[in-house]
Amino acid sequence: MVTANVEAKTEVSKAPFGKTTDGTPVEIYTLKDGSIEARIMTYGGIVVSLRTPDREGKVADVVLGHDSVQGYEPNPPYFGAIVGRYANRIAHGEFKLDGKTYNLPKNNGENTLHGGTVGFNQAVWKAKEIANGVELTHVSPDGDQGFPGKLSVTVRYTLAGNTLRIEYSATTDKDTVVNLTNHSYFNLAGQGNGDILQHELRIDGSRFTPVDATLIPTGELRPVEGTPFDFRKLTPIGARIHQDNQQLQYGKGYDLNWVLDTPEGKLGEAAEAYDPASGRVLQVFTTEPGVQFYSSNFLDGSIKGKAGVAYGQRSAFCLETQHFPDSPNHPSFPTTELKPGQHFHSITEYRFSTRGE
Ligand code: BGC
Repeated sequence: MVTANVEAKTEVSKAPFGKTTDGTPVEIYTLKDGSIEARIMTYGGIVVSLRTPDREGKVADVVLGHDSVQGYEPNPPYFGAIVGRYANRIAHGEFKLDGKTYNLPKNNGENTLHGGTVGFNQAVWKAKEIANGVELTHVSPDGDQGFPGKLSVTVRYTLAGNTLRIEYSATTDKDTVVNLTNHSYFNLAGQGNGDILQHELRIDGSRFTPVDATLIPTGELRPVEGTPFDFRKLTPIGARIHQDNQQLQYGKGYDLNWVLDTPEGKLGEAAEAYDPASGRVLQVFTTEPGVQFYSSNFLDGSIKGKAGVAYGQRSAFCLETQHFPDSPNHPSFPTTELKPGQHFHSITEYRFSTRGE
């Protein structure tokens, strides 16, 4: 297993960040190392801002979001949030475990999305400062959103050099399923700065999990070769997004899970995004077996974010590292089951740099 860099050189500070509408106080932690700064709040474990330099050294905030906690209540796009218990969809809000059927709230047509109607993105997490970052904890009680077992979750955000690392761990007291991710919306030109169609993307996955019309995987692992889903070489996101392809039509653009080529459990590169205009590069490393590339197709300008900017369709991209959607209903997918005594552990890193003239 990869060991964390514990040499503390990142400045970490915390401040009050207002209250939720029900009066719960929220804090925001600022992690700063050199010219990179990440702000994370206890509500939803949300990455509220992430400031990185462009190739000229000019710093901009590269994630979509809001200026206050109220803006995130509700947060239908899940801007910046920790998503759980189960990231992405579970078909018909139902799965079987140990012969028993569990029913979850259906909050996305017939399906359950991102953990149900009240997911981890709406919890106020407990927080404490750690070397280079912040540790968040949340206990989801037995039966929460229909999931079995009391799940104790820890998420550590640390910043060191150009890397924001997210380390997830969880334990349970009954057999359950778990799939955790972070749902940041990136625009490497700076949030609110147009669409991401000229950004170039590479995904290190030679297969993807095709879906039905409700975005539930069919179970097939389909080669990307010869499809608009072949991102094995850096390709502009907009180059093929309008092609006549059923899988693109279902999601109104890219909204699929790629099967990563790096073996599960090993921290490997999953994806790289590059904005030729600013020179900013984001590399995503993970121990997870999949990544959901979502080109923010469902944003339509109706949500006004930081400084009142309307976020239009394709104004950001998400690279959500994860186990495959609907795994509890697909025994052939890498398992998302967690049993008492087992320790769920996963790492994702966002590494920032610049390239070009
Ligand atoms: C899903 C999208 C969904 C978005 C916001 C993504 O993870 O794949 O279908 O619209 O999250 O909830």
